[in-house]
Amino acid sequence: MKTNYDAIIVGGGPAGSTAAILLAQAGWSVAVIEKYAFPRRKVCGECIAATNLALFDLLGIGLQFDALAGPELRSVGLCVGEEMLIADLPPFAEPSHPWGRVLGREHLDTLLLQRAAASSADVWQPWTVKHVSHSDNLRKTCHLVGRAADATATLSAPVLIAAHGSWETDPFTEQRHDLPHRESDLFAFKGTYRDACLAPGVLPVLAFPGGYGGMVLGDHDHLTLAFCIRRDALRTCRERSVGLPAALAAQAHVALSCAGVRHALADASLVAPWLAVGPIRPGIRSPWRYDGVFAIGNAAGEAHPILGEGISMAIQSAWMLCELLIPRRAELVAGRAADEVGRHYAARWRRSFTARIRVAALFAHIAMRPRATAALLALVRRWPGILTTSARLGAKVHRVVKTDGRPKRLVT
Ligand SMILES: Cc1cc2nc3c(=O)[nH]c(=O)nc-3n(C[C@H](O)[C@H](O)[C@H](O)COP(=O)(O)OP(=O)(O)OC[C@H]3O[C@@H](n4cnc5c(N)ncnc54)[C@H](O)[C@@H]3O)c2cc1C
Repeated sequence: MKTNYDAIIVGGGPAGSTAAILLAQAGWSVAVIEKYAFPRRKVCGECIAATNLALFDLLGIGLQFDALAGPELRSVGLCVGEEMLIADLPPFAEPSHPWGRVLGREHLDTLLLQRAAASSADVWQPWTVKHVSHSDNLRKTCHLVGRAADATATLSAPVLIAAHGSWETDPFTEQRHDLPHRESDLFAFKGTYRDACLAPGVLPVLAFPGGYGGMVLGDHDHLTLAFCIRRDALRTCRERSVGLPAALAAQAHVALSCAGVRHALADASLVAPWLAVGPIRPGIRSPWRYDGVFAIGNAAGEAHPILGEGISMAIQSAWMLCELLIPRRAELVAGRAADEVGRHYAARWRRSFTARIRVAALFAHIAMRPRATAALLALVRRWPGILTTSARLGAKVHRVVKTDGRPKRLVT
């Protein structure tokens, strides 16, 4: 494969693959680098908001997505203690796709990355970007290692897109594992079950002391249970369940705290080993890193996953950035316009995503605190529509990207 590109994208999750498809389809020479072989499972609730489904059609994976995804998500629940309160989810104003769906990340991420390759992006996989340097004022250089111990490569481009998520070492700053521990750090877990008992199309949000989560029936009738738990709460669970692995100790705590989970899993069995990741630290990072280096998806900012909006933010931030990059290709390749595009993108990113990151943080903090949850429960018992309004506030039906045909600006 070649080593000089117009753009290099670090990470082949939903954000990176979306950017790779859009840039490659606009005629850019693009490399996307993904450290793991696909298909691979990932910690995620796997709920995909309706706001993305028309984008999947434009990206060219709509038909496969429709064929694979689980039932339409039409209701939201609040599952606390012995109670499970249910309300309608608001429909998205897109007649062809009013409701979100659920699809395992082993399927979704594979579909998107395969589509990037079919769109003529060079997919370097499994390769890891170890570090990034500037060879001169214009080109940025990525130093890669492959799976074989001695496999290395050096790629360069004037545009670099950080799409490596937020749960691993950042190859741009080489920071991550040396962060000081905080009791508020969140650890995330995912279990996938067969023979679970949950109505299709219902998405119960779980609130329990020290954490929050969700469960949903997705593709292949499998139930995904995904949750986050604070470091201090996880420690207490492990002290209570001596000898159990962290995931099982935490799952026992969730089931003890939420009757809905006990009921759903009564006859269920795991279809694959538990997955865990952490610590995760939701918050706004930096959508524009420096001259010619942009961030999308979790690398730019991460909402508490209580809203299940991370995949939307990944796909939509990639789209937003590509809309700004594509018409400026000649200038960017010549080393001009990067600042202007960066400032514009950062402003648009903040306008589009800051509110949902704050709303998600508010809900997450309520869900983790039993007194706040009790107060919320009392309100929802009286006005179940609060759940519908909360989904609206969480941007479940907020349009960030226009989908009335492929946006003209994406065509060079
Ligand atoms: C418990 C939990 C539940 C969630 N539930 C939902 C949900 O229901 N709905 C929803 O929309 N979102 C949900 N999310 C959030 C969602 O998973 C993320 O926001 C989403 O994965 C972000 O996509 P991304 O492309 O930015 O990053 P990622 O999906 O993390 O992709 C980044 C990719 O980059 C690769 N990579 C990393 N470093 C390198 C490197 N140095 N070199 C090469 N490749 C690299 C990784 O292997 C990975 O494939 C949940 C998150 C958690 C923790």
